[in-house]
Amino acid sequence: MSLTYNQEFKDPELSKALVARIREKSARPLRIMEVCGTHTMAIFRYGIRSVLPDTITLLSGPGCPVCVTAQKDIDAYVMLARRPDVILTTFGDLMKVPGSGSSLAAEKAKGADVRMVYSIFDALSVAKENPDKEIVFCAVGFETTIPTIAGGILTAKAQGINNFSVYSANKLTPPALAALMETDGVEIDGFILPGHVSVITGPDAFAPSFEKYRIPAVVTGFEPVDILKALLMLVEQNASQAPRLVNAYPRAVADAGNPKARAIMDQVFEKADALWRGIGNIPDSGMVLRDLFHEVDAARKFDISIPDTPEPAGCDCGQILMGLKRPDQCRLYKKACTPIHPVGPCMVSSEGACAAFYKYSR
Ligand code: SF4
Repeated sequence: MSLTYNQEFKDPELSKALVARIREKSARPLRIMEVCGTHTMAIFRYGIRSVLPDTITLLSGPGCPVCVTAQKDIDAYVMLARRPDVILTTFGDLMKVPGSGSSLAAEKAKGADVRMVYSIFDALSVAKENPDKEIVFCAVGFETTIPTIAGGILTAKAQGINNFSVYSANKLTPPALAALMETDGVEIDGFILPGHVSVITGPDAFAPSFEKYRIPAVVTGFEPVDILKALLMLVEQNASQAPRLVNAYPRAVADAGNPKARAIMDQVFEKADALWRGIGNIPDSGMVLRDLFHEVDAARKFDISIPDTPEPAGCDCGQILMGLKRPDQCRLYKKACTPIHPVGPCMVSSEGACAAFYKYSR
């Protein structure tokens, strides 16, 4: 029987062989970060942590867009949801993320018109169906999602949909990795780089950081064979002290990435400093709407002024996203903070490290 495309990358025999080689080659302790939340979930789901030697510590990185959305941005969404003239449209993951005093789910329960959508184009449909309301789309994503959001904005403009706007909390991945490497106490021996982001950016987007810090880095996919192969490469590169930036996901990631998607993204958005939850301000790591699109920019269309508020006491999300702590080292984990009553965003998102730890760790 022939294997399907994906089954080939789930092959148990090949996976076992890769684990054996990792065990054989792994001599000294290594701290390896999977940057992307989808990798975090795949690593837990396939039980990869449990088959690795004790020498390898896997750390979750800042690649879960909901987890790194600043509390201030959640507060802005809450403020918008409270307006009687607004229908707020959002991806489902954002609903339960706590702001400083409320969440979108709480506002919805109190009667606000907050609707879950699967893409910006669903939000455009809501706008067409409700011409007497202002529809705001909560744009929270990385390079993987931003081109589609840009496409939605161009469509709104082309179709003259004037009751539609976007509040952008979009972010870029490479500046976050660069900022991470500048942070005191962060020690990483290898990066599993995000496959989805690299489909758009190409692996070269990570080259400046790689050239500066010379830390082994492998772009890979999300099946067990992909992840184990990347881990083996990282172990080998460490052993030979020959760091490289490798594209181990050529079936999806072209060397040039997707230039068309990047062009659409750059047509609509431009770089700006951005606040990352628990991490702080990272220069040029955000994507805000260009002046040409000011009429679709909810941050300019509405009077939004959000005071600075402290993040929830005891929540270590920021340290977890920088690889400084494990979720079970947070004193609120499984006590005050659970998926039913999350204190921080890392417990809310389906890609959050704390949620993954809670679901899969024994
Ligand atoms: S367990 Fe909860 S409180 Fe602790 S870091 Fe994770 S999300 Fe924050």
